[in-house]
Amino acid sequence: MPVPLTAQVLSLVRDSSCIHPYDPDQDGERRLTACGTEHLGELQERYRARPFVKEEVWAGKIARARHTQPDLDEEELVDMTGLNFIQIEHALAWESKCFLREQDYRHGHAGPEDQTDAEGSA
Ligand SMILES: [Zn+2]
Repeated sequence: MPVPLTAQVLSLVRDSSCIHPYDPDQDGERRLTACGTEHLGELQERYRARPFVKEEVWAGKIARARHTQPDLDEEELVDMTGLNFIQIEHALAWESKCFLREQDYRHGHAGPEDQTDAEGSA
């Protein structure tokens, strides 16, 4: 470790892409460590510039639940994530929008496609 522990400064920033491995209370928070207050300020600034998207946090909670137990139905998802049906719906819609945007970007074509229901349900 390049920075001695005694010289470290810590801070929590809001980051919707940061999902805690097991503690839901810490979802959406990122722990920053820096060598001094000045560097910490720089790091905090970087995360302040990133938009906080609550759907991203919800999608992360769903992903974590599914990672533990792959074949959850919607009700079990509600139990495991602490989200309600509407939040889950919004999170999944947000996720597929991101996915489609990424696909468009990769294949170099934009435009709506008839794939809104492409995701098969078990
Ligand atoms: Zn530093």
